[in-house]
Amino acid sequence: MSFLRKLAAIFAGGADSASDAYAYHYYVRCSHCGEVIKARVDLRNELSSEFGEGDGPSGYSYRKVLIGRGRCFQPIEVIMTFDARRKPLSRSVTGGEFVGEEEYYEAQQATSAS
Ligand SMILES: [Zn+2]
Repeated sequence: MSFLRKLAAIFAGGADSASDAYAYHYYVRCSHCGEVIKARVDLRNELSSEFGEGDGPSGYSYRKVLIGRGRCFQPIEVIMTFDARRKPLSRSVTGGEFVGEEEYYEAQQATSAS
């Protein structure tokens, strides 16, 4: 096993467990093809600081464009805001809709069955 492969295996296997405390997961369904996409916000690296009156960030914002796995190329734009303690405050999506974890796993099963 090459060094890079080892490294990739470490990241693939350890990413979820090691960094979940700093991750916020969400699921969106593409309004065009119905694919449910699982995505994750890295709360340490992907948030932009928002500054208000006081010292330090008053909150954080997040913006990401997701594209499904090739069945269609519709971009799905996700915008979220978080408070100063990185708790989610609001979220909006263009080109799709937020769904729950259950819809994601239902969609996965539907895909593997067909
Ligand atoms: Zn789509």
